Amino acid sequence: MSDTDGKKPLGLRGRPGGGNVKQSFSHGRTKNVVVETKRKRVVVPKSGAAGKSGGGTAGGDPSRRPAGISDAEMERRLKALQAAKANEEAEAKQRAADERQREEERERRRAEAEAKEREEREREEAIRAKEAEEKRKREEASKPKPAPAPEAVPGQPEEPRGAGKPSSAPRKVERDRGNDRDDRGNRKGGGDAAGRRAGKLTVNQALSGRDGGRHRSVAAMKRKQERMRQKAMGGAQEREKIVRDVQVPETIMVSELANRMAERVADVVKSLMKMGMMVTQNQSIDADTAELIVEEFGHRIQRVSDADVEQVITGVEDSDQDLRPRPPVITIMGHVDHGKTSLLDAIRNANVTAGEAGGITQHIGAYQVKTDSGALLSFLDTPGHAAFTSMRSRGAQVTDIVVLVVAADDSVMPQTIEAINHAKAAEVPMIVAINKCDKPEANPDKVRTELLQHEVIVEKMSGDVQDVEVSAVTGKGLDELLEAIALQAEILELKANPDRAASGAVIEAQLDVGRGPVATVLVQNGTLRQGDIFVVGEQWGKVRALVNDKGDRVKEAGPSVPVEVLGLNGTPEAGDVLNVVETEAQAREIAEYREQAAKDKRAAAGAATTLDQLLAKAKADETVAELPILVKTDVQGSSEAIIQAMEKIGNDEVRVRVLHSGVGAITETDIGLAEASGAPVIGFNVRANAPARSSANQKGVEIRYYSVIYDLVDDVKAAASGLLSAEVRENFIGYAEIKEVFKVSGVGKVAGCLVTEGVARREAGVRLLRDNVVIHEGTLKTLKRFKDEVKEVQSGQECGMAFENYEDIRPGDVIEIFEREEVERKLD
Ligand code: GDP
Repeated sequence: MSDTDGKKPLGLRGRPGGGNVKQSFSHGRTKNVVVETKRKRVVVPKSGAAGKSGGGTAGGDPSRRPAGISDAEMERRLKALQAAKANEEAEAKQRAADERQREEERERRRAEAEAKEREEREREEAIRAKEAEEKRKREEASKPKPAPAPEAVPGQPEEPRGAGKPSSAPRKVERDRGNDRDDRGNRKGGGDAAGRRAGKLTVNQALSGRDGGRHRSVAAMKRKQERMRQKAMGGAQEREKIVRDVQVPETIMVSELANRMAERVADVVKSLMKMGMMVTQNQSIDADTAELIVEEFGHRIQRVSDADVEQVITGVEDSDQDLRPRPPVITIMGHVDHGKTSLLDAIRNANVTAGEAGGITQHIGAYQVKTDSGALLSFLDTPGHAAFTSMRSRGAQVTDIVVLVVAADDSVMPQTIEAINHAKAAEVPMIVAINKCDKPEANPDKVRTELLQHEVIVEKMSGDVQDVEVSAVTGKGLDELLEAIALQAEILELKANPDRAASGAVIEAQLDVGRGPVATVLVQNGTLRQGDIFVVGEQWGKVRALVNDKGDRVKEAGPSVPVEVLGLNGTPEAGDVLNVVETEAQAREIAEYREQAAKDKRAAAGAATTLDQLLAKAKADETVAELPILVKTDVQGSSEAIIQAMEKIGNDEVRVRVLHSGVGAITETDIGLAEASGAPVIGFNVRANAPARSSANQKGVEIRYYSVIYDLVDDVKAAASGLLSAEVRENFIGYAEIKEVFKVSGVGKVAGCLVTEGVARREAGVRLLRDNVVIHEGTLKTLKRFKDEVKEVQSGQECGMAFENYEDIRPGDVIEIFEREEVERKLD
């Protein structure tokens, strides 16, 4: 301050007009200072300048500075002024903000009240709907012009004021406009009032005008109210929902799903838990579950079932002119022992001997025969329903016609019915082959009548299902059967385009010692050629050779032709679909993608444990012990046979569970899975590859090799038996009767007994029976013969007994003495 004081006289000197002047500031504040005239004159404008363009220049301009004021003083004054100004501004802002808030609150209340009123009015209006509509029509007809007016002034806050006049139609437009602005205002944080006013006024209009015309639904009003409430609460704008299109593949990791929805992982996990799915963010869930979650979060799901990589094999519809007739594919079904295999062999052999010399038949899972009339028929050489259903369940609809074999000496049996149901479910036409008609006791008509009960009405019973009496043994009726099939095929008009990249289904696949993985593929469309690059299930390859059902090498195979395909990189599974693709890279990419997808799916299946499942499992765990195993086999058939055999092992307490089964060598993946579940790996006619062997050694996973199913079953049975809890058997070893009861100090009550039967043993268990009712079970504290503690007392002898922790004994009670024995059990 001393500095300032010292300079003031200088200022007085320089400016004689100085004196004691009352300074007044813009907001009513006054101040008496000596040099105020100068300050007022010079500084204030400067501060104004400083306010506009920053204090730096104002303070540093000595030419406009009053004499006698130092730089420092100047700066202080400037700062003081700026601060005052800033204060004023802040105050003004605050006031404005408060005012705005108050107004918003008022608006909100008004809107709410109006909305309520409006709801009531709408109800009234609904009653007068007819009348109102007519009125509106009249009004609209008479005042069509004002309609575009509001459109001309979009976004103007004044617009609603003008809306006092217009008719109902523009009012609606305005309302919507107001709304729009509201939304926009929401995001920008400004223009709210205008938007609201627009909305409000029109609502007023709607209420007072009773135009009866178009008005907003209650839901729309509620939405608006909600928006306002959110606005009033502030900060809600950011949370406004953005609905996203969420792409979901067949399985998706929880964290990835959250990411794609732009939601918090924790929230997603929470909603999964609410659904009973106990998962962590790193677990995968399937698309169905994901869909529920996506919907819950209000997004739209886009399921991408096939990944982009697969798209190269989809699409391309065949045009009608490209389609050529193709042979039908036939599956023979029927009850066990009704002659399916015999019939298949008979058809094949009759044909082979007729056509080929030598007739060496090779079973590749399917074969083709030619009827006398020249029609080609493709038979699937895997009788039974398992093959049919497993193919179908894998999405390979291969069969065109089912031949239902029913033995004439046995008629309709359970599996016959099953076969009928399968064929019906697959919507595949049936032909009934009544077999074993050579037998004297054969009664084909009985078969026909019984089939009626299962809604199979054969032609002889005036139905439309063809029936043929055959004998696989004598060959009777076989040609007739083939013709019947050819006829049925004609009706079906089966067609395919031989001039396109082949696609087909794997009928059978195996790991051949000499030839590597081999798959029998039934070409379904297109033509498969040597050198073609293909993907089949999770495997891929390049056709090295094609072998037909007669064992001949062929260069190509067209629609409905079964061929063995060599050149695979791994063994696919029956039912897998083969597709020819253009490049090796594509094939590999698709195969890899599928392998990963399958892995994910398995993981998801494991992870997707609902609470119910967990509970069920916990319950089951109490009673049923499970022996998990992994089975790898050389061919699909043995795999199925083993699974069936395994399912049969076990009872209510022990069960064998085949965790995974597949065709081909035992791989590291198998070992990994086995380790995770503590399961042994069983190789049936296959071996573990080197990495799998070392991995198994490392992880302590047991690998067992078998080539005879019975050995395998016996071993698994023995292992499963080990899981059976030992049975506890009770053997009664004696009875004693209490004659007297003594009190012995230090011991308590002692029973003077006579062993009436068997022996009494010190270590045995005892039960106290009174009137043949068990009143206590426990052990003995003492067993005395005269004064001595003994181990055993024989029948007919007297002894003293005292119970451990039990005193209530009376003369006449009977003591039952028993021993427990643990007996190991075996599965039968
Ligand atoms: P699948 O279990 O249905 O495959 O029946 P199979 O083909 O194994 O036949 C079962 C039994 O019936 C075998 O002993 C056959 O010899 C016999 N069999 C099959 N077809 C005929 C037939 O047409 N006539 C007679 N007499 N026996 C037959």
